[in-house]
Amino acid sequence: MLAVHNLSVNYRGIEALTSVSLTLNPGEWVGLIGPNGAGKSTLVKAILGLMPYKGQILLNGTTLKRQRRQVAYVPQRSQIDWDYPITAWNVVMMAQTAALGIGRSPNAKAKRLVSDALDRVEMLPLRHRQIGQLSGGQQQRIFLARALAQQPNLFLLDEPFSGIDKKTEAIMLSIFADLSEQGKTLLVCSHEWGEALNRYHRLLLLNRRVLANDTPQAVMTMENIQQAYGANISAALHNQNVIPFAC
Ligand code: ADP
Ligand code: MG
Repeated sequence: MLAVHNLSVNYRGIEALTSVSLTLNPGEWVGLIGPNGAGKSTLVKAILGLMPYKGQILLNGTTLKRQRRQVAYVPQRSQIDWDYPITAWNVVMMAQTAALGIGRSPNAKAKRLVSDALDRVEMLPLRHRQIGQLSGGQQQRIFLARALAQQPNLFLLDEPFSGIDKKTEAIMLSIFADLSEQGKTLLVCSHEWGEALNRYHRLLLLNRRVLANDTPQAVMTMENIQQAYGANISAALHNQNVIPFAC
């Protein structure tokens, strides 16, 4: 479904990604893991066409430009302006406004999609809250609802598990499992090097290059962690929460 071939991205001469190739198939739930600065966000943004790159990125055999609505993006927390005065409902409605065209008021179908998505992430009762007045987990669920309401085939989620509560984690994992069962494709940047990764179909270990691309069991080995972290391995593993990977 998504084919990335020989992708390289430079920031003013510094190579953030080198010769990255990967494919994502329908129904696949794939984790993108690697140390801080590995290029995970850069890869996601290149796929979205948000930055210049060398190489090829094809969705169903063609470029993404004309199929932008097929791809939903949940940005990393740090990239969102949480002070922006907007309600939870309107954040989710943004996906619909883009589809209807600016200035058109939402029709009944758009409202139903928004309502269903908010219900799925268990946020319907708080729909009138300002986004800045929700907890980290609730905010993350709102952005997931926006992605759901868009009804895409490919979900790109940059660090969705960062700064959330257990309830939100459970809701998100259940939604990801449902989506992949429905044939949707998920690429999830995760900073958790933990149990939950075993539920993924495949893990891509990234550090500027793809270091491993296999089942969770095959990727989560000491050797691979060492390869990704190099000299920082002991620091990474001495962390009491054992979270050596950060998006
Ligand atoms: P990750 O998401 O895995 O933490 P990023 O994709 O954010 O990694 O960053 C990859 C590398 O590119 C890092 O070395 C980072 O410092 C650099 N980088 C990211 N964004 C920019 C930018 N806008 N300008 C210059 N360098 C950047
Ligand atoms: Mg990142």
